[in-house]
Amino acid sequence: MSLLVVGTVAFDAIETPFGKTDKIVGGAASYIALASSYFTKEINLVSVVGDDFPQEFMNTLKSQGVNLDGLQIKQGEKSFFWSGRYHNDMNSRDTLDTQLNVLGDFDPIVPESYKNCEFLMLGNLMPAVQQKVLSQLSKRPKLIVLDTMNFWMDIAMPELLETLKGIDVLTINDSEARQLSGEYSLVKAAQKILAMGPKVLVIKKGEHGALLFNKEEVFFAPALPLEDVFDPTGAGDSFAGGFIGYLAKTKDISFENMKRAIIFGSAMASFTVEKFGTERLIGLSQEDVSNRVQEFVDLVQFDISLV
Ligand code: AMP
Repeated sequence: MSLLVVGTVAFDAIETPFGKTDKIVGGAASYIALASSYFTKEINLVSVVGDDFPQEFMNTLKSQGVNLDGLQIKQGEKSFFWSGRYHNDMNSRDTLDTQLNVLGDFDPIVPESYKNCEFLMLGNLMPAVQQKVLSQLSKRPKLIVLDTMNFWMDIAMPELLETLKGIDVLTINDSEARQLSGEYSLVKAAQKILAMGPKVLVIKKGEHGALLFNKEEVFFAPALPLEDVFDPTGAGDSFAGGFIGYLAKTKDISFENMKRAIIFGSAMASFTVEKFGTERLIGLSQEDVSNRVQEFVDLVQFDISLV
């Protein structure tokens, strides 16, 4: 089952109460591709970087099975740069700087060999670019998942609303769900957002887990209580990568299977936050992933009798 991943491949500078990084490799698509690589091996990337981007990280992606034919490298230009500072709770953050650089005039070109993908992950990126990718595919994928953030809601809401009409699953965090719907209650927000196009909505709540909604049902996955959280950057993208990677692996897009997929997504996010940047997502074993998922199962399993 081929998976097409679209999103930023970027440099980040991060400040947390535990430390500060200079420019390190990040970007939504980097996290998504790495996280999904533990589930499916046919991963195709569409993105753009400048000539300042390290070849070493591209080699890492390749060694994890990610095909880079759709990664444009712009000579004489700089890669996308984002900088953020986390608050003491590590759950909320301020964006300090966003430099679009190569992203400013990004014209995505989907290689011929990617065009009949069955799973499409539209990672965080300008909604018009997400839509341009969609319009180049030779057939509608079996499942389209889209992730976005407040930055695009602030500057490109009409394009975002248009893009939402054609997707299956939207993943956003709780404050973005409130911004998008204008509702404080996440239950009301979900119903409003589901009327905008997506059939399923995932609301990520950082260390408080994630909610999965369709029009009739709601399901909850906790986040694993971790001893050390160093850097939450990329947790949402790693969640999305684990989520769609598991669905692509199992080829089952039912709501029941999505309940399992959000546990796998949460497991991948729990790895990411344990180190700065993408480091923790590189070189995990299948056993590491299975053991982590088992910890989730143990965390929420209980015997209860209602009589
Ligand atoms: P997350 O922590 O999962 O929300 O994602 C963090 C990643 O998103 C970072 O590695 C950034 O490079 C990337 N990012 C930050 N702002 C944007 C933006 N406006 N558009 C696309 N990617 C972004």
